Amino acid sequence: MQIPNHVETRLRELAEHGKTLNCYIYDTGEMRKKIAHLARIMPAGVEVFYAMKANPHGAFLAAALEAGAKGIEIASLGEAEKAVAAGFDASSLIYTGPGKSAEELTWAVEHCIRTVHIESLTEAHRLNAIAEKAGKKQDILLRINADFDIHEAQTTFSGGSKKFGVDEEKLADVLPQILALDALNFRGLHVYAASGVLNVADLLKNCELVFGMARHIEATFPGALCDTIDFGGGFGVDYLESGHDFDPQAYADGLKSLIDQYGYQERTFFLELGRYLAADSGWFCTEILDIKDSRGKKQVICAGGINHFRRPAALAINHPLAIVHLERARLFDGQESIRNESVYFGGPLCTGADKLANNIHVEAADIGDIAVFGLAGAYGLTMSNMEFLSHERPEEIVLG
Ligand SMILES: *Cc1c(COP(=O)(O)O)cnc(C)c1O
Repeated sequence: MQIPNHVETRLRELAEHGKTLNCYIYDTGEMRKKIAHLARIMPAGVEVFYAMKANPHGAFLAAALEAGAKGIEIASLGEAEKAVAAGFDASSLIYTGPGKSAEELTWAVEHCIRTVHIESLTEAHRLNAIAEKAGKKQDILLRINADFDIHEAQTTFSGGSKKFGVDEEKLADVLPQILALDALNFRGLHVYAASGVLNVADLLKNCELVFGMARHIEATFPGALCDTIDFGGGFGVDYLESGHDFDPQAYADGLKSLIDQYGYQERTFFLELGRYLAADSGWFCTEILDIKDSRGKKQVICAGGINHFRRPAALAINHPLAIVHLERARLFDGQESIRNESVYFGGPLCTGADKLANNIHVEAADIGDIAVFGLAGAYGLTMSNMEFLSHERPEEIVLG
């Protein structure tokens, strides 16, 4: 991985202040470019939402707003409030997630958000009662747990027994019950197959499957028009630096031909993207406090661990890594260093689970250098065990 010059420059400035370095650096330039690029290449009717669970920091919400994202995909009241505080109109919010409380649904109805994505019959009834009481009609999408999965994906959201949505084979039973709820306005389907998919063909297969479902529903249930179809998120990023990035143009072209094939040119399609938009806009930067040899393997101990960057351990993958060399004075003559070898990175936590990278090759690193983990703009600090061992929260520094 190549660290961008301005990120390295800032790290060197920070290192001069003498405080142990442990921070996230964000620059949302890439995210802004991606949102603008998708708007240019996607077929008419496709609307891109930022799935803010990837990174709820204000800089990312501002980037989504300023670059022209259609809105925010939220999955909690806290996310809703952050999105509104960042300048998004409540009518641009779409609300997913398998356990929405009465308080959360009440907020959604009162603020007239765009769509609530129904995850179960219980939720449909709960929302209907709330909307009825408020004298409103709420637009909904029905989330379906398709009988389909993408085996290679990092995380799957459909196929098999899942907590998301209504099983596809129960639709014939559930949909008429939902259509009968007077305060809900059925607008279409939400089918999100998997996250972190690099293979465009796999995601397009999901799109085709959902189109087939929409056609079947419209033929079976008069009055159930699927005028909005949400494909969820799932555009992957190349964590393993294989050189094969997700190809949004191939996706746009494939989706366009499916839309034409089905005659769905007048319909609306949602994409809720988190990782793809945010990942390459952030770096987790942490000082190397110690390097030791343990029974022939080098263990590198950093100032921050899974308390600040849990994703590599949670998913058992190495993120791209680069070292900023600071040539600091040695503490003693026998001090260990890394020269062209495969080593282990961990943090300061008193648990063996505190791994930042497993058996990763490093050209050179010394105590006092900075380990910089890339593609940390998505699912970084936000999914970490911040409270565990009560270390100081890493600063989040915004460049650009
Ligand atoms: C997490 C999530 C997303 C974003 O997924 P990415 O893989 O980050 O694009 C989108 N929609 C829903 C419902 C989610 O839960």
